[in-house]
Amino acid sequence: MPIVTEVDLLKYRRTKIVATVGPACGTPAMIRTLIETGVNVFRVNMSHGSHAGHGQAIDMIREVAAELGTATAILADLCGPKIRTGKFTAGAVELVAGSEVVITTADVPGDAGLIPSQYAALPRDVAVGHRVLLNDGAAELSVLAIEGDTVRCRVVAGGKVGDHKGINLPDSEVSAPSLTAKDRADAAFALDAGVDFLALSFVRSADDIRELRALTDAAPMAVGIIAKIEKPEALDNSEAIIAEADGIMVARGDLGVELNPEQVPLAQAQLVTRARAMNKPVIVATQMLESMITAARPTRAEVSDVSFAVASGADAVMLSGESAVGAFPVEAVRMMDRVARQTESYHWHTGLDFVSSRGAADGEIKPFGDAIADAAAQLVGDVRARAVIVISSQGMTAATISAARPAAPVVAISKDPRTCRRMNLMWGMIPHYVEAVGSENPNHIARRAARDLGLAADGEFVVMVRGFHADPALNSPSITLLQV
Ligand code: PGA
Ligand code: MN
Repeated sequence: MPIVTEVDLLKYRRTKIVATVGPACGTPAMIRTLIETGVNVFRVNMSHGSHAGHGQAIDMIREVAAELGTATAILADLCGPKIRTGKFTAGAVELVAGSEVVITTADVPGDAGLIPSQYAALPRDVAVGHRVLLNDGAAELSVLAIEGDTVRCRVVAGGKVGDHKGINLPDSEVSAPSLTAKDRADAAFALDAGVDFLALSFVRSADDIRELRALTDAAPMAVGIIAKIEKPEALDNSEAIIAEADGIMVARGDLGVELNPEQVPLAQAQLVTRARAMNKPVIVATQMLESMITAARPTRAEVSDVSFAVASGADAVMLSGESAVGAFPVEAVRMMDRVARQTESYHWHTGLDFVSSRGAADGEIKPFGDAIADAAAQLVGDVRARAVIVISSQGMTAATISAARPAAPVVAISKDPRTCRRMNLMWGMIPHYVEAVGSENPNHIARRAARDLGLAADGEFVVMVRGFHADPALNSPSITLLQV
């Protein structure tokens, strides 16, 4: 058999693209081009910038999306207990292996022998022999002694460290709360601005998610919570965290510093599988097309990385610096789109499953929702249905259907624009706003949606799923086969 390298591309990309906003995409024209090129969700990173700046970006995205009629979602990313360096007199220093440096919690400018950190508890959290990693692991220190508010270290691996770069303490139990005062202020701002998702960095346990949930529950509008998995503790508690959150992000930047880099791909693959098994969307993030920050074309290894994430069934892939501060944000989105389409189309045409089907464990009953979703996916294959039509009020039905990874695109219909935007993070979902949900015959809505989106011609089949409800007394899911 020849090796297949060319396949017809599918009409709709299944894997979603998250792009971080920043100075490189700060105009309405740029936001418009990025959405048209394929961005489904914009990430506003609270680690940088001001509320005024973030507010402008959010307004701009909302305006452009309204003009285009897209359900573009916005995710605000809270820093969590991220520890950072302070400022250096020269902006950055080169640490030399073998030399000694002092970390201070005093608010002073740093130099080659002195590293300032605003994290006051650092001298209490570390112990002699613990590793201190700087600037995404570019430099590694080992603690020699703790002297009051300062920590004396030996430079084990030299490297460059600049202003406000990350500090990771993989051997230490960080005592900082998971939701810092800054996170609470940022969350209040983001909820007020009406974002669709709040992501929390450095989650350690499900309690961290519950704490954030208490804040969002008090807000007038529902918001999805994304747990960023970037600590070894989060891997240990991943099941409970996924259960509590509305989705997760495999935050490979910090995860690759806290773990050994070679452990990250395995953690990623397991997290993708686990999140899907629990009907929660999963974003694979960081350095996916890193070289495109400065180059118009990615490395072949980066392309493979995106392709692997898509093939393994991730709901979304993410751009960070590539879209926020890079010289080629549009090219980076276009490249992600092309890689995803090529990989998905190959899987589709060769009949490869994105992920193995979800069998019930021996002697156990499959959860109700999963059984319906898997049956719908099976039916799509059996009758070659052109689309799955899901009518969802909160997005719960949509998440369950998405996780079954049906071969046909899923039109996710809701009369709530916020639900439409939240569903835009999920694999295979085409959010579709229909005001008449609840008042018009659902069969009519489904047929019309399939036609309007160009998914089914007259005589072709679509599968409709509806009727899921959180309240067991009202839960009556049904699958309907409709001919257009
Ligand atoms: P960050 O999170 O970009 O906010 O650090 C992502 C990661 O750590 O990979
Ligand atoms: Mn991170």
